Amino acid sequence: MEKNCLKQILTYINKVYDVGEKINSLKNKNKSPVKISTISFIVLFGFMIQIRSFNRLERLLKRNKLKKLLPKKTKMPYIDAVRRSLSDFDLDGLKDFHSHIVKTTIENKVFRNGTIDGLKVVAIDGTELFESTKKCCDKCLTRNDKNGTKHYFHTSIVCATVGSDPHIIIGQEMLEPKKDSPDKNEGEITGAKRLIKKLYKEFHHFADIIVADALYCKSTWVKEVLSIGMDAVIRVKDERLHIVKDALALFKCHEANKEWIIKQGSKKYTRVKAWDEDNFEMSDSNIKVRFLKFVEEIHIGDKIEFKEGWIITTDKFASSKSLMEDNA
Ligand SMILES: [Zn+2]
Repeated sequence: MEKNCLKQILTYINKVYDVGEKINSLKNKNKSPVKISTISFIVLFGFMIQIRSFNRLERLLKRNKLKKLLPKKTKMPYIDAVRRSLSDFDLDGLKDFHSHIVKTTIENKVFRNGTIDGLKVVAIDGTELFESTKKCCDKCLTRNDKNGTKHYFHTSIVCATVGSDPHIIIGQEMLEPKKDSPDKNEGEITGAKRLIKKLYKEFHHFADIIVADALYCKSTWVKEVLSIGMDAVIRVKDERLHIVKDALALFKCHEANKEWIIKQGSKKYTRVKAWDEDNFEMSDSNIKVRFLKFVEEIHIGDKIEFKEGWIITTDKFASSKSLMEDNA
């Protein structure tokens, strides 16, 4: 990266997102002799230039590559000091820093044109962390594999913007063994409900549409999303659901409502056909949703591949094309 360009980025994030001030306000919890702001800057910078390991970071430190970016006479830490400091880091301070960044993106209307077709779209998804058969803590979730071995892990439900850059993580919520159902799907939905409620309280209208995968195809989830004034888009996979049977039967009776072509280079293009009808009832409630079926004809040279996908949504207005992009 050009040195000037780098300097500009650092000046910009400092001016707009108060990075320097926030880093300086982080607490030095383990009384490290190196300033916590120096360590924070080094790690943040490592993330920015996508350093993949502590070994690489160590090499940078040893070669004194970062010295020029820090104030003169800054004492550079050894990698062990960085490690020690991170293992007992000021997480509350870090959460406050993150929340400040998200609030700033909202205030500065970073997504004023939406992330997809004028709408601000976020996706919710669960991700498993720190899996182990040996190490555990009192907040670990557990499961037994088919050999009867116990696996310990954590699950984080993450909410992030999708579509145009930048992709911002609006927030995350850890599942807890005592609070959340041991059933994988139920547990995840409960955690996700908690997450969107928390985010709504903190940021208010943080999105127009919340996209989620097939396990969220439950009326309780749809109700929760509607209750904070947002729309749900959910992938559907289970063909045994009544709503799927109803919709597919109806779609058989007519041609696609819309058709378009996506060009993907000189030898590849995809013809998309979308069937789109409103007022389908979710089986366990009186919530009415729109059901869309997409059939993709993928042409590569002389070959044709077919792909079919279904989604339901409470959004009445978004075009089938942008709803498909939400799920891309
Ligand atoms: Zn644990």
